[in-house]
Parts: sequence; structure tokens; C-alpha cells
Amino acid sequence: MVKGIGASAGIGLGTALLVTEQPVTYTPHTPEDPAAEQQRFDAAFETFCARTQSMAENMDQRSDTAQGDILRGHILMLQDPFMQQQIADSIRGGSCAEAALEAACDMFITVFSASDDELTRQRAADVRDIKTRMLKILLNIEDVDLSHLPADTVLIADELTPSMTAGMQAEHVSGIVTQKGGKTSHSAILARALGIPAVLGVSDALQQAANGDLIGVDGGSGFVYFRPDAQQQAKLAEQRQAYLQRLHRLEQYRGKATVTADGRQIELVANIGSPKDLEQVLANDAEGIGLFRTEFLFMDRDSMPSQEEQFSAYKQVAAAMHGKPVIIRTLDVGGDKDIPYLGMQREENPFLGCRAVRYCLQHPQDYETQLRALVRAAAYGDIRIMVPLITGLQELRQVKEMVRRLEQDCAQQNIPHGEHVPVGVMIETPAACMIADLLAKEADFFSIGTNDLTQYILAADRGNPQVEYLYSVYHPAVLRAIQHVIACAKQQNIPVGMCGESASDPALAPLLVSFGLDEYSVTPRSVLEVRANLAQWNQTEADAVATHAMALDTAEAVREYLQGCVKA
Ligand code: PEP
Ligand code: MG
Repeated sequence: MVKGIGASAGIGLGTALLVTEQPVTYTPHTPEDPAAEQQRFDAAFETFCARTQSMAENMDQRSDTAQGDILRGHILMLQDPFMQQQIADSIRGGSCAEAALEAACDMFITVFSASDDELTRQRAADVRDIKTRMLKILLNIEDVDLSHLPADTVLIADELTPSMTAGMQAEHVSGIVTQKGGKTSHSAILARALGIPAVLGVSDALQQAANGDLIGVDGGSGFVYFRPDAQQQAKLAEQRQAYLQRLHRLEQYRGKATVTADGRQIELVANIGSPKDLEQVLANDAEGIGLFRTEFLFMDRDSMPSQEEQFSAYKQVAAAMHGKPVIIRTLDVGGDKDIPYLGMQREENPFLGCRAVRYCLQHPQDYETQLRALVRAAAYGDIRIMVPLITGLQELRQVKEMVRRLEQDCAQQNIPHGEHVPVGVMIETPAACMIADLLAKEADFFSIGTNDLTQYILAADRGNPQVEYLYSVYHPAVLRAIQHVIACAKQQNIPVGMCGESASDPALAPLLVSFGLDEYSVTPRSVLEVRANLAQWNQTEADAVATHAMALDTAEAVREYLQGCVKA
């Protein structure tokens, strides 16, 4: 048993197939006719583009547009005028096409590999893939063919490239183990998109395994079992069976609307922290974005993202969601989220201090930058602005006033922008709950943030293990607050959602269905699970559970009862 990086959860068990490529070697030489050599390169480049385009279309047909886009990106990378110029100069200077290509690609690989940013480092893998595929065309070497695989194959490779996997018979792949790659590598993205358990970063996997060996892959914990003994085999087989049954059950819900057992339609959307999470959102079939935590755009850097940077991130998310709702929360800094370059003062009680909308309204110039970027991005999709940590109407009014003014500004300057961009309130303070009736008259929507709401109602720090026993969404005080907020939203006919972790809690589902929650915003990986879960409940049954639960008097009694009601 060896530990690697668990990159795609699930249990795989099957027969090893070592994916090793023919060595791509050549002897550098000086061609007699550089012009003819350039033509040889150009012809190979054309073949590359045609093959890559067809692989991308193949991916699109599998509804794997993320991989399709990566492959189309390869064409653009090789078309890059700088890259082409480097290659042409080398050929003119006496290099053969292979050496010229290799030198140009290696330069990019070195630059990308040295980056601090993991995603940029992963781009080195793209260039390596481009280089290998181009060299193979130039040298007439056939590609690895994974289009016909025996059932229950575990692929063992140094790294799985998009080109290797483009025609892969994915339904016969039980697991993936690679020597290279991290959680955001192509192998990881591909494995997750296809729901194949994968462990990456097992540096000597190709030496440890031989073709035909039995291999167990636990993509959640990151363990790989090379030739498991009888006992391990039996356990893995049992876990694999349970995993497949769960997948099968969840797959029925892909591409379906989210509806309760008696047909009430519900919106099931995802929480994200950056445009990088879109791949997960699309792969898991979310119906939009219910919470984009924009503070992540402001973190891990030395200065505020500019209006253009923010605009481009928001626009990217809106465009990727093709008109589906995208709720973007304005900067929620403070509390446990520190952004050092903002130079915020140290506070005795940061969770009760200058946090979120309070900080933003005290720094109106920076807030305007964000709101303007949002108003502009709203021209490209169904963007809705959400304001965190509201405690009073005045805060909501101030933000709405700013948004309307910025819309007018954009109109006057002929800048594309959204009209009447909805402004909603995150309900996460006791004050917001108590005045939910008033807020509902002026907010365009509510989203209940149970993570904070629980801590503020129970006066129990959400990050303090010493009071963890008090922090419970099942506490009658929290549940009454949720019920009240939903009722106030219904009264005013505004949509009400939930974006705290509790939205994906199967034990709470009957309560939320009974109260009439309209929208559930959950981590992308929970989408199908929540859809499956909501489909189990009809109004009558949910109401019966809710009536019983709401009459119980302690968090523990409610938890025990509701967990006992969870439908498998
Ligand atoms: C919440 O408080 O429930 C929430 C979703 O926001 P965060 O976890 O980012 O504070
Ligand atoms: Mg919060």
C-alpha cells in the first residue's frame, strides 16, 4: 500500500495497464534546405491542428467541454506568433524541425515550471503534451491508443495527457494512478470530470506495477494497493460495489431538474471561490452559482485586484453559466479572513468588528471598484449582487444606492452594464433575522448563511473547538430563525436560498422543504447528492417531520430525530 495524492474520490479495483509511450527520440541534424525543413514543420503543424481539433470535438460530444477547451488552447499555444517565430529562426539558423520545436517548447516549460502559481505550473504539462504530439507527427510515431480497453482497467502512467485520454474508453477505466500531477493537473481534472477514482503523485508507480497486476485505488484517502492480499481484495471489492451503487444512484439525477417527490421545482446551485472552480460546477451539473466568495480574488496577493481584473473574473463566471443565475457576494473580509495588504486594525473581537459590508461601506472607493466591476459584468449574464453581514436596512439602502448610481454612470459613459442588477441580502446575523420582514421589502432576494448565523445566534465561535459542542444548526433557536426568515421572504414574494454548509445536510432537507426554501447552494461535489436527497421528500412527509422536529427542545434531541429520518 502506497500513499499518493487522492485527486478523485472513489474506489477502483482492476487490472493494471501500464501506459508507457514509445520513446520519442531523434538525432538532431542540420538540414540541407532550411526552407524545405520549414515546410516539413508547417505540414506537421497543420496535421497537429486538424487532429487536435477533432480530439476537441470528440470531447465536446462527451459533454467534456473543459477538456475540449484545453485542447483548443493547445492549438492557440502553438499558433502563438512568438513561439512560431522562435521555431522559424532556429530552422533558418540550421536546426532540424524537431530540434527547433523542442527548444521553443522547452523554453516555455522552464518558465511555466518555475511559477509560484500551481495552475501556471500545470501549463508546463500542456506544452510538454504539445511537444510530444508534434514530435510524434514529425517522426511518424503512432499515439497511445486507449480507445479499446478491457473492463476494469486501472491505468498506470507517468502523467495522463489530454491527447492520450481524448479517445479513451472511460467506462472501462476503474482507476487511475499517475507518477506526476497534483490536484489541479489534467489527470485530476479528467478523472473528476469522468468520476474515475484517481491517485496521483505515486512517483514509482510504473516500477511497482506490472501489466495484469491487480490494483486497488482509493481516490479519497490517496492509497494505492499494489497486488492486494485476499483480505484487502475482499474489502476493496465491497467498497467498490458500494461506490458504484452510489454513483449509479446519483447518475440518474444528472441533467435533471431538481424536484421534490411531489414535483415542486427547486434551484440547486453551487458555491465557488474563483473562476477556477467552474470546471467542478459544470462537471457536477449545478444549475448556477449561489455564492461566489469574492474575497478569494483578493487573497494571496500584495494589492487589491483592479476593476479590470475583477470584471474579467465576474464576466468569466457569468459567461460560463450561460444565463443561469450567478450570485456574487461582495468582499467578506474580516472575522477569520485577513487580507494583510488592506492594513485592517487589530480588533478584540474580529467577528463582531469591522467585517464584510461594514468594512466595505467604510472604504467606499474600494467598494465602488468592486460594485462597478459587478455592474459591468452583469451585461454578460444573470449576475446578482449579495451583501454579507447585513444587520440593518441602512446598509442595504446604501449598497443599492451605490449600485443604481454606478449603473447610471455606465449608461452615461456608454459602458455595457446590467440594468437593475438585483441586490440581495445574506441573512447571517440575529439582527437580520429579527428584521427579515423589513429587509424582505427592500431586498431582491435572501440567502441564509448558516455558518455565521449559527455562531452569532448561539454566541459560539465557529472556529473554536472549545465551544464546538454548542455550535449546532439543529439548535431550536437556529431552526426557528431559519423558519422565520423563509416565512418573511415568502410573505414578500422574494426568493430565499441557503448557502451555508447546512444546505447540503440531508438531515435538514425535510425541514427546508417544509419551510419552502427555494434555492440550495452547495459545494459543487454535493450537487447530485442533494438533488437525489430532495427528490425523496414530498410536502406532506416533510411537514410531518418538521412539525415533530420543531416541537423538540434541545439541539441534541433535534439532531438525533432528524438524522434518524434521513432517507438512504
Ligand atoms: C455563511 O456564513 O454561512 C457563509 C456561507 O459564508 P462564509 O462561510 O463565507 O462566512
Ligand atoms: Mg458568512
